[in-house]
Amino acid sequence: MINELNKVMEQAYEAFLSYQFVSGQDKKVFLYTIADEIEDLGADLLETASEETNLPIARFIGERQRTCSQLRAFGDLVAEGSWVDAVIDTAIPDRKPLPKPDMRKMSVALGPILVFGASNFPLAYSTAGGDTASALAAGCSVVVKGHPSHPRTSLLVASAIQNAVSICGLHPHVFQHVVGDSHELGKILTQHSHTAGVGFTGSLTGGRAIFDYGQQREIPIPVFSEMGSTNPVLLLKDALNHKAPEFAKAFANSITIGVGQFCTNPGILLGIKSSALNHFTSLLALELSMIPAFKMLHQGIHTSYVSILSKVLSDKGVETVFHAHADGDLVASPVLARVSGDAFLKNPNLHHEIFGPFSIIIVCDNKNQMIDIWKKLQGQLTTTIIGTDRDIKSNIDLLDVARNIAGRIVFNNVPTGVEVSNATVHGGPYPAATDARFTSVGLDAIKRWVRPLCFQDCPDFLLPDAIKDSNPLGLWRKINGEYKR
Ligand code: NAP
Repeated sequence: MINELNKVMEQAYEAFLSYQFVSGQDKKVFLYTIADEIEDLGADLLETASEETNLPIARFIGERQRTCSQLRAFGDLVAEGSWVDAVIDTAIPDRKPLPKPDMRKMSVALGPILVFGASNFPLAYSTAGGDTASALAAGCSVVVKGHPSHPRTSLLVASAIQNAVSICGLHPHVFQHVVGDSHELGKILTQHSHTAGVGFTGSLTGGRAIFDYGQQREIPIPVFSEMGSTNPVLLLKDALNHKAPEFAKAFANSITIGVGQFCTNPGILLGIKSSALNHFTSLLALELSMIPAFKMLHQGIHTSYVSILSKVLSDKGVETVFHAHADGDLVASPVLARVSGDAFLKNPNLHHEIFGPFSIIIVCDNKNQMIDIWKKLQGQLTTTIIGTDRDIKSNIDLLDVARNIAGRIVFNNVPTGVEVSNATVHGGPYPAATDARFTSVGLDAIKRWVRPLCFQDCPDFLLPDAIKDSNPLGLWRKINGEYKR
């Protein structure tokens, strides 16, 4: 195995040496071609993904659309080109006491990137997902370690990317796909001397292990692990008084979408003891009772859901508000539980992600306790505030807490469903991610796969086009402190 993996990484490095110089326009054609090739897989891809995950075909129509739009959005970004953040500080030869040199910097590709996808998004967070799209856009070669729970889907998508490589006449090893279901494989690839960075989406245990492998190397590398989250939601009084039915419906759908197997699943709902919170709880249970139970992704996830659930529901002070009847292999019951703020604070088991259609309502004694619990939860991908203008104006201090715990603060909506935009942040303080300064979704994801490179007093004809005097690419650049095109 070691020899084969060695060869893969040697090839990835060879490919990187030429691919890093491919123009933004040509990378756009490549990324668009990958999207076209994925769409050309047609029903075969949708059916295979559905068979391997137990999720419906309709879900994969949406996920495929998202995956292809994401690839094309990165294509547009690199064709426009200003993403390289070109900065030019021109020389002042007669500056006293010392002359000022000409300094120019831009972002350049890091090297071969290793990608681990998650089981719950076989298209959008896997083989041709955001990590692969952003790394290829940056000019890095990519090696994907296919997820063992959707191997055929991963192979199909890999074949689409490889077709695009050959259609575009790129180095044949710009993209490679490795399969196998041993942790050792991921460890060897992460620790290979040619691996320059890692993108991981998955569990806290897996993401942390891979981050540690990356730091134990002789030459440490950046490992961007995006992991699970409980996505705490604050339910404020006026909103519960006026909009309880609307939010109960929205949250029932959000808790159960994808059988609860979303990293943005709202797993913890915080409210202050009141008849309005009781009413909302009953409405949420009613809405959940109208949603059928579905099969989970695979046996491992189902077994873990059932066993964690049975432990948590028998914990001191935890009341089961709703527990759907679920019949059949791998079928997961949607569950709503409730606990007092005091009992929650005493029970760390309740503070972690329970991966599945589960949410727990924390009934707090007062606002201070609600804030105390919110602050004690670990770093989050998202946190949500449900409140009317009146609620929010009389609780302005909540925003100060929210900004320190999450990567995305949602107002009056559910946290599931991550928009791919220029402003998206999908990451957050640990353990949501291993580096809160970056995002894995949205166009800024490309920034994980580059490093800044400065050219001092370099002759103009030797400079990359992005930082040449004549600006042949027409980029937005910061010149002597001012943005210019
Ligand atoms: P996972 O079990 O951690 O697996 C992810 C990948 O890592 C697989 O390829 C797995 O393959 C590998 N792996 C796991 N542990 C490893 C280790 N110790 N050493 C080397 N490789 C290892 O995660 P999953 O079950 O696929 O995904 C579900 C989780 O992902 C949930 O917690 C969910 O919240 C999270 N998630 C997060 C995001 C996000 O953007 N933050 C998005 C979607 C899902 P092998 O088993 O073959 O080694």
